[in-house]
This record gives sequence, structure tokens and C-alpha cells, in this order.
Amino acid sequence: MRVAVLGAGTMGHGIAQVTAMAGHDVIVRDIETEYVENGLESIESNLEGGIEREKLTREEADAALERLSGTTDLAEAVDGADMVVEAVPEDIDLKTNTMEDVEELAADETILATNTSSLSVTEIASAAENDGRVIGLHFFNPVHIMPLVEIVVAEQTDEATLEAAHEYVEEIGKTPVEVTDSPGFASSRLGVTLGVEAMRMVEEGVADPRDIDAAMELGYNHPMGPIELGDVVGLDVRLGILEYLREELGERFKPPQTLKRKVRAGKLGKKTGEGFYVWEDGEIVGVSGEVER
Ligand code: NAD
Repeated sequence: MRVAVLGAGTMGHGIAQVTAMAGHDVIVRDIETEYVENGLESIESNLEGGIEREKLTREEADAALERLSGTTDLAEAVDGADMVVEAVPEDIDLKTNTMEDVEELAADETILATNTSSLSVTEIASAAENDGRVIGLHFFNPVHIMPLVEIVVAEQTDEATLEAAHEYVEEIGKTPVEVTDSPGFASSRLGVTLGVEAMRMVEEGVADPRDIDAAMELGYNHPMGPIELGDVVGLDVRLGILEYLREELGERFKPPQTLKRKVRAGKLGKKTGEGFYVWEDGEIVGVSGEVER
């Protein structure tokens, strides 16, 4: 199979990597040569890491790299593609424009997949004339490590597309879960629910963030507690998702005041050095003063 991946960023390069490793020919398209090169370099470095950890052999890594190429030319990327996976930034206009442009260039039977993490796949599909071939493939970061792909079925998605999506996800060694297109799909909706309740518990003084996180890590086997995860994902990103889910699904997703205050203060979590925790060199060094009791 030949797969075109649009966007060579965090998600795009990961999707390209796992697809090439599964034996498919992959072409990655970004808007600047530099971005394409950065994406391909990230893949090389991930593969090197895999060799060091003895997850794959040098021969396997070299074979995957041989199947990979890059371009800034959309027509070249889409030409002959059996599947196009878009991983361009999360912006509905950009996504719908991309769908329209791709459809003009792609063969009639090409599957068009979107890696949106929150937008309506049904709305993105509506940009295509032949909309039955559009589907959501929601990968998780880092793609080469995370085993899950949510297959998001839009209102228009047809059976053949759904079947092809399942086949592709299984071929690349991931585990699919099928979700009807709805706000937050399954993963974000549940993940955010846990995170938001944990923040309310901090606000109410039920427990210290470290204890809340430890409760979920040690009691429920979560690899990371919900407060820490919010800091890692970015509190601005969390707030954006909550506002969207509140609009679509109701007040149970109302963002806690503490979260809004932190975002307004630029305390966005790990990436800015402070969120619910204080971070130094990528490690938690304490609980943020605002929530310390
Ligand atoms: P990113 O910013 O790392 O990468 C996006 C890339 O797309 C950039 O390199 C950008 O130059 C490129 N781009 C912009 N316009 C383009 C165009 N018209 N054609 C081709 N490339 C173009 O973003 P990301 O984190 O990889 O996110 C991409 C998509 O994946 C978004 O929809 C996001 O919501 C979704 N997603 C992200 C994550 C995550 O954890 N980062 C997880 C799941 C899904």
C-alpha cells in the first residue's frame, strides 16, 4: 500500500514511521522543506533509539527508511496513494481545505483519514464530495509507542472505508477501538473527565495533587496521575478541550476556576515550568504555591 501523510510534525512523522515499519511505502508532505527534513530526521532518531533498545534490527530500520520519502508538493504526495492521513494543525478551516485539495488530486478510491483529536470528523468529511471514504484515525503521542488508534466513524463513512481502516490499523500493529463521531471521542472525553474532577478535588482541598496522582497510579495502575497528566499535556490544551466539550455536551465539562486562573497567568504546566506542579528540567520539583495548602 502507498500512504501519504500530510504534516511532518509531532503526529505526522510518527504515523509515517509506524506505517513504513509495517512495510508500506510512505510519502510525507509538509509546507516547508525544513519541516519535511525535521520530520524525517525525527524518524531516523526514533529508529536509532529502537535499535539501541533492541526493539528492531538495523536491517529493519534501513528497510523502513528506504520506504520513506518527503515532499512539499501535495500533488506528488497524493499521486498513487491508497490512503491519505492528514496530521496538519487542529484548525477546522485548514482541515476542510486540505480535504478539498486532496480530493481534487487523489484517485476516486483513495481513503481519506484525519488525525484530528477533537474536531468533528463529520464536518471534515463534509468538505469532500465523495464523503463515504472519509474517516477519523486518532493516533496517540508518541505514535511509535502508544498502542491505541481510535477509528472515528463519521456520519458519512461507508462500510468499505471502515473495513480498510481496521485492516490498516491492525497491519501497523496498533489496537483499534471504534467510536461514532462525537465530541471528545472516547479517549479525550473520559480522560478529561478524570482530569477535571481531580482539579475540583484540589480546589475543594480534598487532597494534595501528589496524593490524588498517587491514588490513581498506585490504586488504579495509571502510569501517570490525572493532575500530572494535565501539566504534561498543557493546561491551555486541557482548557480548550473542556470549553469545547462544555459547549457540545453540557455543564458537566465546565472548566474549574483554578484551571482558568492558571492559564490566564501563563502557568501552562511542564512546558512553562509551572502548572499544578512546579517543573525543572522536565521533572516535578514541587506543588505550585497556589494549590499548596
Ligand atoms: P504539529 O504542529 O506538531 O505538526 C503539524 C505539521 O503540519 C507542522 O509541521 C506544519 O508545518 C504542518 N502543516 C501545516 N499546514 C500544512 C498543510 N497544509 N499541509 C501539510 N502540512 C501542513 O501538530 P501535531 O501535534 O502533529 O498535530 C497534528 C494533528 O494531530 C492535529 O489535528 C492534532 O489535534 C492531532 N493530534 C495531536 C496529538 C498530540 O499529542 N500532539 C495527538 C493526537 C492527535
